[in-house]
Amino acid sequence: MTDTLERPTISEADEQALLDAIDRWLVKKVAPVADKYEQADEYPTELVHDMCEMGLFGALIEPQWGGLGLPALTYSRIVARISEEWMSLTGFFNSHLMMALIVQKFGTPAQKDHWLPRFATGELRGGLALTEPDAGTDLQGIRTTARKDGDVYRINGSKLWITNCIEGDILAVLVKTNPNAEPRHRGMSMLIAPTRDMETGKEAEGVSRGRKLPKLCYRGIDTGAIAFDDAPVDARLGLVGGEEGKGFLMATGGLEIGRVNVAARGVGIARRALKEAVAYAQVRTTMGKPIAQHQAIQLKLGEMAAKTRASELLVEDAAKAYDRGGRVDLEAGMAKWFATETAFEVATESMRIHGAYGYSKEFPIERLYRDAPLLMIGEGTNEMQRIIIARQLIARNPV
Ligand SMILES: Cc1cc2nc3c(=O)[nH]c(=O)nc-3n(C[C@H](O)[C@H](O)[C@H](O)COP(=O)(O)OP(=O)(O)OC[C@H]3O[C@@H](n4cnc5c(N)ncnc54)[C@H](O)[C@@H]3O)c2cc1C
Repeated sequence: MTDTLERPTISEADEQALLDAIDRWLVKKVAPVADKYEQADEYPTELVHDMCEMGLFGALIEPQWGGLGLPALTYSRIVARISEEWMSLTGFFNSHLMMALIVQKFGTPAQKDHWLPRFATGELRGGLALTEPDAGTDLQGIRTTARKDGDVYRINGSKLWITNCIEGDILAVLVKTNPNAEPRHRGMSMLIAPTRDMETGKEAEGVSRGRKLPKLCYRGIDTGAIAFDDAPVDARLGLVGGEEGKGFLMATGGLEIGRVNVAARGVGIARRALKEAVAYAQVRTTMGKPIAQHQAIQLKLGEMAAKTRASELLVEDAAKAYDRGGRVDLEAGMAKWFATETAFEVATESMRIHGAYGYSKEFPIERLYRDAPLLMIGEGTNEMQRIIIARQLIARNPV
């Protein structure tokens, strides 16, 4: 199961034009409404529509299937910019792209032709369903099963904390096709499972979407529970790669771009929190001078700026390694761990610099501060990232 795709490229001018278009959209369409949607925890239908129009749901899908075919480096820059304004928006297309890339990398030619054009336009939107009520980090401990029944697989089980699972149409679902396999990962497969009946718009047969989960932040986006009761999935189009037993590899491969994305979100949060702190420290006066002239505040700003820049460089490093091909667990793990810990630290320090105003819902710091902790949990917790980094270090440097 090798990845034989060509490496995507983009000219500097085209990248700049794309980033400028996104900046204009952020200023004009997102900034005025982000707080409204976030505070109401409401699905931002019009913004999702805009992102489909801009091609973001096909950002990493190759042009032959209607996508933009962007390099991960450009993609990470887009994610960082959007996260400066409203991080939730990046979740809609990143979860979707993790699903799409699994098909693009590992699917059969028929699966690519069938799914990728619809994923690229956002006509079908979805995500990656790995986590269950009793299994998150320990992915091999999942209990959802799928058994072959003629031309279909029948899925039974439930998934929890799944992004895009209420408003979306389809999911890449990690299942056990052989629950007794040893080692456990050999019994795991990946199925592309429609969750909505395309004709009626209702839930697909055997699928029950649960409620949208209330969250500290990362609101507006639908993260929820979903249950499968003998839900049928077409075997030819659904079993990714047409082969059982490869699902765990596909899931961990999909998480690599997810980690680059989460790290880039961290860059966006840190950058915005730093920008706000630098501006505020120059206008807030105590003891007869702007707080930016107090050494205690300068020490904070210096550290925040250096760590934010280091995060940007680590994300660039990971994205470039991803663009070169092959596995990038080490680079993506380093970027994810450092940039997301930095996002939390910088948001916290920015809040302290803002004093009481940082705690107010009328200033942007409060939301950045609530958004940052998710990044330390999703796409593999930061505890696991350090373990992955260490294992890779040892594997790449045997004695
Ligand atoms: C807002 C949100 C959106 C999400 N979206 C998705 C999604 O779209 N799809 C999806 O599949 N999942 C999603 N998740 C789930 C997320 O990926 C999991 O929460 C994450 O993998 C951690 O799993 P857990 O919550 O079960 O924690 P656990 O695995 O129970 O871990 C609990 C603690 O123990 C630590 N720990 C566990 N095992 C080890 C170990 N071996 N060594 C050291 N420390 C360990 C962890 O680091 C953590 O600190 C989402 C979660 C959130 C909060």
